[in-house]
Amino acid sequence: MNKIQVMNEDLANKIAAGEVVERTMNVVKELVENSIDANSSIIKIELVESGVKEIKVEDDGIGMSRDDSILAFSRHATSKLKTLDDLFNINSLGFRGEALPSIASVSNITLKTSDGVEGTMLEIDGGVIKEVKSCDLKKGTTITVSNLFYNTPVRLKYLKSLYTELANISDYVNKMALSYPNVKFILINNDKELLNTSGNGDLLKTINNIYGVVVASKMMEIKGENDDYKISGYISYPELTKSNRSSITLLINNRVVKNNEIVRCILDSYHTYIPKDRCPYIVLKIEVDPFLVDVNVHPTKMEVKFSKMDSLLSLINEVISNRLSKKTLIPKANPDNIEDNYYEDIKVEYEVNENLYEDEEKIKPNNKVEEITFDFNTLENTEEEFQEDERIKDMYPIGLVHGTYIICENQNGMFIIDQHAAAERINYEKYYHALSTHSNNTIDVLIPYKIELPSNEYIILEKHFDILDRLNFKYEEFGNNTIIIRSHPTWLPKYAPLESIKKIIEVIVNNEDFDEDKFNEKVSITLACKMSIKAGDVITMPDMTYLIEELRKTKNPFTCPHGRPTIIAYTKYDLEKLFKRAM
Ligand code: ZN
Ligand code: ZN
Repeated sequence: MNKIQVMNEDLANKIAAGEVVERTMNVVKELVENSIDANSSIIKIELVESGVKEIKVEDDGIGMSRDDSILAFSRHATSKLKTLDDLFNINSLGFRGEALPSIASVSNITLKTSDGVEGTMLEIDGGVIKEVKSCDLKKGTTITVSNLFYNTPVRLKYLKSLYTELANISDYVNKMALSYPNVKFILINNDKELLNTSGNGDLLKTINNIYGVVVASKMMEIKGENDDYKISGYISYPELTKSNRSSITLLINNRVVKNNEIVRCILDSYHTYIPKDRCPYIVLKIEVDPFLVDVNVHPTKMEVKFSKMDSLLSLINEVISNRLSKKTLIPKANPDNIEDNYYEDIKVEYEVNENLYEDEEKIKPNNKVEEITFDFNTLENTEEEFQEDERIKDMYPIGLVHGTYIICENQNGMFIIDQHAAAERINYEKYYHALSTHSNNTIDVLIPYKIELPSNEYIILEKHFDILDRLNFKYEEFGNNTIIIRSHPTWLPKYAPLESIKKIIEVIVNNEDFDEDKFNEKVSITLACKMSIKAGDVITMPDMTYLIEELRKTKNPFTCPHGRPTIIAYTKYDLEKLFKRAM
């Protein structure tokens, strides 16, 4: 028996097990994907009570002949899913047709369809065709599924709350709209419009339709390819983040998929640009030869694997890192700006969906800020690209506010720098560089440092003496849970070497991850945070000038290693607007 047949059996079993119709979203998914396969350019989804009462999907696709429409509800209909390749073929969504008989068996269905030659209307009750008659010739298909699960009380119990069902459906339709920007999607629940995309093929416009204009105006286009993969799409400025992963959309050959490795790679690419617990907005399209997509898929969860994963991850990392490094990313303190919290606040009372994707999945509101006008054509063109050494233009300090914020100016406007965040960024890059280049110089200390630890911590430290060796410390054990440091690397801050050494030991003792890179990273961040000037330390004008100059030289001057902003801009125009000098 060859591999392909085994897989087909597996898939067939999963489908037969009824997974496809367990949730209202799966019914919507099935119907929408049929509409996509029918080459529709408009797909309108109307729900009553999150689809439990009624799901109506109307399209303008190629429609069906009378014979085909009857055949579509027969259990013995020919499977359209023939080989694995079909799954990831650009032209097929894979499972089309398979689930219709299952859906019909647990609901009442009215189907109106026309291929332009004949118009057919079917009435189906609990899987039994009750009526077949002629109807009008308007090309396309309208299918109404009502009273879902009416004859299976047990299954109905498994449905989550109506909000959760709606949140799932909305998330799915949003993502379909992102994968098919050339199809107009309309989603309505209880007469309330939740989504209405333009369908004109412009991905950025679709992003605007789904996430609103504030998000769309803070997205950057990305593109890249290597021998195996081609990627494209949009990524957000670091200032625009969300507290869960629902802001990341992954599309592989136009299929919405889930893949934790890719998500992790995206987050790594944003490392230190955004806080650890935040997620950027991403729409990432991946084009690949179907043969590189691993067969380990799940028909409803949309999880995929790749045989050349490293090649894909390095491409994604390279393209995103490169894009972030080529842009001036100073957030503007524009009075019109709406915080991304805005999106979390109006998360429209929907609950978290635990089962379908990851735990953190939530719904996004649609297009809540229509009144702000936004010119898409100028977006990419007005972007200023800078060479790495001039990502922050020269600026001059004016003074210090609250012993924390440096006010600066240049010809473009006024800037506020957080002195701790800025110093932290400078020191972080310095320490990280020293650690990763294994800078060999050490300094002997006049009076050796004696450091005593609780026995439980000392036991862990003992196990990892090799790390102290790697960092070029000269040390000895000194009896009971005590270590003596005789020399230390030169890059340690001169004014507080003992405190720094204690911090490094603390990282060793509290760390489970001894991957060299990650360890260096952690030590650099810890030292940078503890050893940098603090908020409230009053610094002099020459100190400020020095700090700004050093910040400008860093690789990423815009955020501290924790992802907080170092600098915020009030452009000249913003100031004029604030004081009503310009409107
Ligand atoms: Zn800090
Ligand atoms: Zn920080």
